[in-house]
Amino acid sequence: MTATQALTDTGARSWLPAELRDWLDAHAQALDEGAEDPASVLPRLAEAGVFRLGVPASQGGLEGSDAGDAIEAVSQLAEHSVAAAFVAWGQRVFIEYLLHSPNQALARDWTGPLLRGELAGATALSNAMKFLSGIESLQISARQDGDDWVLDGRMPWVTNLRPDGFLVAAAVTAPDGTPAVVALPQGIAGLTRSADLRLLGLQSSNTAALEVKGVRISPRWLIHADARQYLPQARPAFAGLQCGLSIGLARRALRQAATAGQGQGARGILAEPLAQLQAQVEYLSDQLIAGVREGRYVAEPWLLFEVRIALAEAAQQAVQLELQASGGAAYLKPAGDGFARRWREAAFLPIVTPSLVQLKTELAKRRARLAAEAAA
Ligand SMILES: Cc1cc2nc3c(=O)[nH]c(=O)nc-3n(C[C@H](O)[C@H](O)[C@H](O)COP(=O)(O)OP(=O)(O)OC[C@H]3O[C@@H](n4cnc5c(N)ncnc54)[C@H](O)[C@@H]3O)c2cc1C
Repeated sequence: MTATQALTDTGARSWLPAELRDWLDAHAQALDEGAEDPASVLPRLAEAGVFRLGVPASQGGLEGSDAGDAIEAVSQLAEHSVAAAFVAWGQRVFIEYLLHSPNQALARDWTGPLLRGELAGATALSNAMKFLSGIESLQISARQDGDDWVLDGRMPWVTNLRPDGFLVAAAVTAPDGTPAVVALPQGIAGLTRSADLRLLGLQSSNTAALEVKGVRISPRWLIHADARQYLPQARPAFAGLQCGLSIGLARRALRQAATAGQGQGARGILAEPLAQLQAQVEYLSDQLIAGVREGRYVAEPWLLFEVRIALAEAAQQAVQLELQASGGAAYLKPAGDGFARRWREAAFLPIVTPSLVQLKTELAKRRARLAAEAAA
């Protein structure tokens, strides 16, 4: 780990070395617009040790760190570039899948290359998360052929598909109908990556679609035989690390708002909403990290859903405050480029699975269920 022992202005330990922070600031615009080679991101994050946080030392992780530190690191990345932070999310979540997989050989073979950034880990499990919520059916099916499974289907959105080497985690309907989670290596016959999708932002994130036609895998590629058991255990890391995107973006936009227009944001009519939102973001971030550390969200996922919604909304409000504090300067090019990028980055937060619509629907269903139980 090359991170400094310095603290950030929120009092958290800084996990990003100064040279990485400077590089991200210099390249954030290009990463968002697609002018930077996406291949440049992963090795830099790996070199800073970002993926080792919360991984047991016996498996190559950083001694004494935990999942809360991993969330804080994603937040710190998102202060500079949500594209880089989202790549870090995909990579770290894939590592988490391996840490929780009963397939020890798979974890032993791949955790090292993923931690070192030699291989990209891509998680195509939005479909599975939606499946567990009853929103979508699984988009890949497996048929038995001897000991192997033969897979057919599609993954419409996958980030971190580095053309020179990736492993993707996918949910499939097993031959007996059970939803299972498998890993597919780049280059396996029948797996075809599209060109990068053309996006509003986050363009240098290696986001593409995957076509799965007759892909044959042996049991050694099975991450878990039952997604219904496995994914609820992985969800706190999946959604918790994702919350880091909102925390970092909110912190950065609030800081920009406070210093915009010779500090008018911090002194004038916006001072109070700025201070309130800042306190709320830090409160929610503390709540999130405490909940992940205590393992609270496996049994009580709705608490995590509430935090994820509140943080995404806080980030949207923070960007609005930055706009209002900056005034016309935010609307000028190139002066407002940083703001415009944060505006686009903020648009991603409500739609990435689990989306805010999906989570609010889940919470409404739960409220209706509790009301019905209370009335019975
Ligand atoms: C830049 C980018 C990168 C991405 N990277 C990845 C990735 O790496 N891996 C991955 O798996 N996915 C990825 N996604 C996909 C993402 O996580 C969402 O799944 C996707 O954007 C939402 O799917 P959709 O647009 O098809 O929404 P739709 O399914 O069309 O739904 C529209 C909205 O309604 C909600 N909704 C739909 N049906 C219901 C229902 N019955 N009840 C409640 N709510 C419902 C959805 O959640 C969504 O908010 C990425 C998306 C983007 C934009």
